[in-house]
Amino acid sequence: MRYISTRRGSDAPTSSFSDILLEGLAPDGGLYLPEEYPTLEAPDLERLRVALREDGYAAMAARVLALFIDDIPAEDLAAMAARAYSAPSFSDPQIVPVTALEGAGVHLAHLSGGPTAAFKDMAMQLLGELFEYELTRCGDWLTVVGATSGDTGSSAEYALRARPGLSVVMLTPAGRMTAFQRAQMFSLPDDNIVNVAVDGVFDDCQDLVKAINMDADFKAAWHVGAVNSINWARLLAQVCYYVATWLRVTEEGADASSRVSVVVPTGNFGNVCAAHIARQMGLPLGALVVATNENDVLDEFFRTGVYRPRSRAHTLATSSPSMDISKASNFERFIFDLLGRDGDATRALFDRALGRDGFFDLSDTPEFASLRDTYGFVSGTSTHADRLAEIARTEKESGYLLDPHTADGMHVARALRGQIDGPLVVMETALPVKFADTIFEATRHLPPVPARFEGIEGQVERVTALANSADALKELIAQRISPGSPA
Ligand SMILES: *Cc1c(COP(=O)(O)O)cnc(C)c1O
Repeated sequence: MRYISTRRGSDAPTSSFSDILLEGLAPDGGLYLPEEYPTLEAPDLERLRVALREDGYAAMAARVLALFIDDIPAEDLAAMAARAYSAPSFSDPQIVPVTALEGAGVHLAHLSGGPTAAFKDMAMQLLGELFEYELTRCGDWLTVVGATSGDTGSSAEYALRARPGLSVVMLTPAGRMTAFQRAQMFSLPDDNIVNVAVDGVFDDCQDLVKAINMDADFKAAWHVGAVNSINWARLLAQVCYYVATWLRVTEEGADASSRVSVVVPTGNFGNVCAAHIARQMGLPLGALVVATNENDVLDEFFRTGVYRPRSRAHTLATSSPSMDISKASNFERFIFDLLGRDGDATRALFDRALGRDGFFDLSDTPEFASLRDTYGFVSGTSTHADRLAEIARTEKESGYLLDPHTADGMHVARALRGQIDGPLVVMETALPVKFADTIFEATRHLPPVPARFEGIEGQVERVTALANSADALKELIAQRISPGSPA
């Protein structure tokens, strides 16, 4: 299996999985995708069904991974998947259980049973294994420098803690995360985890990360890397749970006529891009429903054909904060497929049109007309009031408490339920315990604290305050990271 960039010229070289594992953007500014998607036929799906039933989620996932990764032995992939996806690190031995939500007429795929109670663990836990494996193989080391407003940072820290050859420097905006999110990150005792509270907002943290990455000498000296949402391996890990979801909702012997539709609370288009890839492989998914919050760039595209990233000033801080994006960083992958995998055409849109005009418009194209019929895409959006109403309604109707992001999905699911045939699965992306204030506002009670998170607040917090300055950050990294400690 070879990998290509979404902006590649016709005779550009291809890369192996291991070549691109630690990379973010391709050198030409595009994103990596496999040269061709492997296919899943009915007998493959039945074999995966047996693997899931008899050997569990990790074994099933390892088989899917092996379709995309041919430069790591299958038994090593299986061992990594088994370590990444196990109880009690995940609260349910099924890893991704799927339940029927009585009363609402939908299913929920529970993606947030991992160590930080958000679906990002599904990708990050595997990424931790893969990074350690690759660094060990080539005797290298890496300093992951990132910025987070909550979910990504904690998920990355829990996935990379105590791994040889890996350190994490995570920037957070001082005083702007929920108490639970702060406690989750800052209570970690591991020496390879450096939490930083920047005197600024999330955008300032991102700018500092950018500044570090633009200093080529510093970057090389400290082996600076990232665990971006555009990392291909993260997406690949997410493809696996769509396969599991389909298998759990359908019966033995189900075939392409048993289409299952999914509703995906969406920010950077990573989660739903994985659904798109699974569908392209032949997994019988029906509609792929993109659910956004008030930051509705993607809903706008799927309704009108116009993709117009917002400026920072026009990006709202909402009560589903992990979906507060100004541009959808994985979207280019889907557009590349939509344009018949034409790298020049993709570059023309993302490099030239966005750079020059700030938007592109596909409304009059046959590609736009094919979004629903050929690719299954539909979309919807919700507001703070919708989320609150949905959290309260679902609790009353089904006795189940949704987190605010999943509530965005549920709101859109109800709006579109009548137009979609067959089973509809809302992907649950976080647990309510992470967002106590919004849950209280919606229900007048606090979310229950799962046993594994009891006592997390009130422990010693390990965090370093930092001025909003790239030089100060470089100094901190130089102080706290010991260079050259290979895996
Ligand atoms: C990151 C995140 C999302 C958005 O996922 P994308 O892959 O960026 O579309 C939705 N919900 C939660 C809870 C998240 O952490």
